[in-house]
Amino acid sequence: MAKTLRLLLADQLTRGIASLKDLDVAHDVVLLAEVMEEASYVGHHKQKLVFLFAAMRAFAEELRGEGVTVDHVALDDADNAGSLGGEVRRALQRHGCDRLTLTEPGEWRVLEMMQDWREELDVDVVIREDDRFLCSRARFEAWAHGRKGLRMEFFYREMRKESGLLMDGEAPEGGQWNYDPDNRKSLPKGVTPPARVRFEPDAAVRAVMALVEARFSRNFGTLDHYGWGWTRAQALEALDAFVAGALPRFGDYQDAMKAGEPFLFHGVVSPYLNAGLLTAREVCDAAVAAYETGAAPLNAVEGFVRQILGWREYVRGVYWLKMPEYRETNALGADRKLPDLYWTAETDLNCLAHCVGDTRDHAYAHHIQRLMVLGNFALLAGVRPREVQDWFLLVYADAYEWVELPNVQGMALFADGGMLASKPYAASGAYIDRMSDYCKTCRYDVKAKAGENACPFNYLYWDFLIRNEEALGRNHRLAMPYRNLSRMTAERLDEIRADAARFLDGLPATYEG
Ligand SMILES: Cc1cc2nc3c(=O)[nH]c(=O)nc-3n(C[C@H](O)[C@H](O)[C@H](O)COP(=O)(O)OP(=O)(O)OC[C@H]3O[C@@H](n4cnc5c(N)ncnc54)[C@H](O)[C@@H]3O)c2cc1C
Ligand code: SF4
Repeated sequence: MAKTLRLLLADQLTRGIASLKDLDVAHDVVLLAEVMEEASYVGHHKQKLVFLFAAMRAFAEELRGEGVTVDHVALDDADNAGSLGGEVRRALQRHGCDRLTLTEPGEWRVLEMMQDWREELDVDVVIREDDRFLCSRARFEAWAHGRKGLRMEFFYREMRKESGLLMDGEAPEGGQWNYDPDNRKSLPKGVTPPARVRFEPDAAVRAVMALVEARFSRNFGTLDHYGWGWTRAQALEALDAFVAGALPRFGDYQDAMKAGEPFLFHGVVSPYLNAGLLTAREVCDAAVAAYETGAAPLNAVEGFVRQILGWREYVRGVYWLKMPEYRETNALGADRKLPDLYWTAETDLNCLAHCVGDTRDHAYAHHIQRLMVLGNFALLAGVRPREVQDWFLLVYADAYEWVELPNVQGMALFADGGMLASKPYAASGAYIDRMSDYCKTCRYDVKAKAGENACPFNYLYWDFLIRNEEALGRNHRLAMPYRNLSRMTAERLDEIRADAARFLDGLPATYEG
């Protein structure tokens, strides 16, 4: 009787995953290995490490509860080989397995490594498609074939039709595909977001915390505010709480930012989704069910479904379509080192201090903080894409290259030259002022355009357009700002350049990642 070793990666904690589909409980062995190579290829936020190790351990226990033979290798096991390949080799020998079955990983780097296993290990290696996504890689390739620009909105409409989510026959529910124009409100005084569901670490999680503090003491972030769940039951509880408490106003305030309120009306479900504790379909179904029972309005539910059925599936498609070249793109020739403030949160730019601080404290920042503050600043300052990628890959509990990279390269930095976004998401202080309360207590004046006290986003915005005129000047979506730029006097242009140079030259950038 063939005996199969079934490898589960840290982000494959889904009972229905492809590699477990024909699991033979009587003969097969499931391997979950915590290995230093994966835990340290970037210096992950401490909360991400705790979340994943704790979730792996809990998942192993759940499988054991079903009678499955599970081999869980802890990071501090004396014989731990330190790499996935090493642990697979050891487990094959230990259990006398003649076949290795796994589900394709979410990262190019890991897939390449696994493809080599076919030669390196003397067993049959079966790599199955990851069917937890609503759009397969082949389906995305077919959609993208022959298109010049890969616009998410058109992809999303096809996904709506194929999934049947929020459809009224052939037409979109409510008559519109997209309710974004209703979804750009700032947070009015008196509107209080619901409290985030926090899960108090139990003894097993506290043991993981101690391990992470001991082995990864220099990593970014703090465990002080740790509140992630580590089981599927907890992930479902977090999802239910979001649907009941925050979803109804998710749409209205999805772009809003508020000091001291990192979660606002967001789902805070991405770590669970990306690790496999929740599936994309069930999260979308839960939101749609709230619409159908009248518990949440269409603008909120459509906005939320679009993030998952649209953006999440789309960026994954782009990642696999464009790797490995995608990592290296730098269409705007950005060459500045990442400023230290991304590591320290020590800056008098209040918006950045809050967004980096939220990231450090919670391994979380919501989309607009990531895109319009942290990403926007890196774009305007001209920070090297590879350094920005590395930062975004290590600071969030939900970060995996397949989702981080297109968001950084395509959305935040325009490093792919416009394949993903039709124009850079560059914005001056006025946008941040409109969508947040950060500017009210900032030492800079968001209305001032020039000089020491002016909001740096203001002159950096124009300096960015001046610097990149050759690459961006013919972009029709930037016609208006370039027209405004062309009307500026030579003295004003010099003033912008001088303010930007003074500010950027004064930014410390000494950290080595
Ligand atoms: C520069 C940058 C880097 C990012 N890096 C990551 C990352 O490493 N991992 C990650 O999961 N998301 C990433 N995102 C997307 C998004 O910011 C997060 O998914 C979201 O903030 C997670 O919080 P939430 O669960 O509260 O999301 P909600 O706002 O409640 O949205 C619901 C879900 O939609 C999905 N989603 C929303 N926007 C996106 C998007 N642009 N791309 C893919 N999925 C999306 C997520 O699964 C999210 O959980 C990044 C965005 C930017 C601009
Ligand atoms: S004034 Fe400028 S730097 Fe200060 S919080 Fe507002 S946008 Fe940020």
